[in-house]
Amino acid sequence: MTDISENLNKIQKNIQRAALAAGREASSVTLVAVSKTHPIEAAEQALKAGQRVFGENRVQEALSKFPALRKDYPDLELHLIGPLQTNKVVDAVGFFDVIETLDRPRLARAIAREAQKQGRCPRLYIEVNTGQEPQKAGIAPQETEAFLDFCQKELGLPIEGLMCIPPFDQDPEPHFELLADLAKRLNLPCLSMGMSADYKTAIASGATHVRVGTAIFGHRAQPFPSQ
Ligand SMILES: *Cc1c(COP(=O)(O)O)cnc(C)c1O
Repeated sequence: MTDISENLNKIQKNIQRAALAAGREASSVTLVAVSKTHPIEAAEQALKAGQRVFGENRVQEALSKFPALRKDYPDLELHLIGPLQTNKVVDAVGFFDVIETLDRPRLARAIAREAQKQGRCPRLYIEVNTGQEPQKAGIAPQETEAFLDFCQKELGLPIEGLMCIPPFDQDPEPHFELLADLAKRLNLPCLSMGMSADYKTAIASGATHVRVGTAIFGHRAQPFPSQ
């Protein structure tokens, strides 16, 4: 059986160590516990162990698990880390605290429109396709500045950071470095990068948010969802 509380402890220690080694405060790194495909009980165990920030890939799945948990843990923070279709924007804007996967102008427009209607807007990160992979979502690095401008100046969206998912078959470090440089240049404080296999490397490169699933909750029954 997976001991979620023990895993969380271990990862928090690793985060502390990696942050200190990089000359950073441990508190500058937030662990986003990725509970996708795992049952509500798994998230509940993590909450009982003190974890408060969670990541989910799918709007419907998040809606099926987290409203109940939020009743008991009102300080819970929920991040959308999977691709967002425009027909799910109503729910996503209403429900998530952070949407990490803002990846195209049409989605930015839909979020802005919906935020206006609902009178609330999640904090937003722009997903950057650092590997320039044709099949992968995200804004190309060289187009990120123009897209940020569009989101901030034309739509008034609260963009707080950047996120990336490096190519599976490459050393992630150059991708983390690229994203960190970009965030610095664009003056964005949040950097979501690093997963179970490489979160320590990401912290060395400046990650403020690491998205860890398997190392907390164990292996998922489903394969990694396609991007
Ligand atoms: C599933 C997922 C994660 C977590 O991956 P693990 O390898 O299980 O830690 C992180 N980020 C995104 C975007 C994901 O889809």
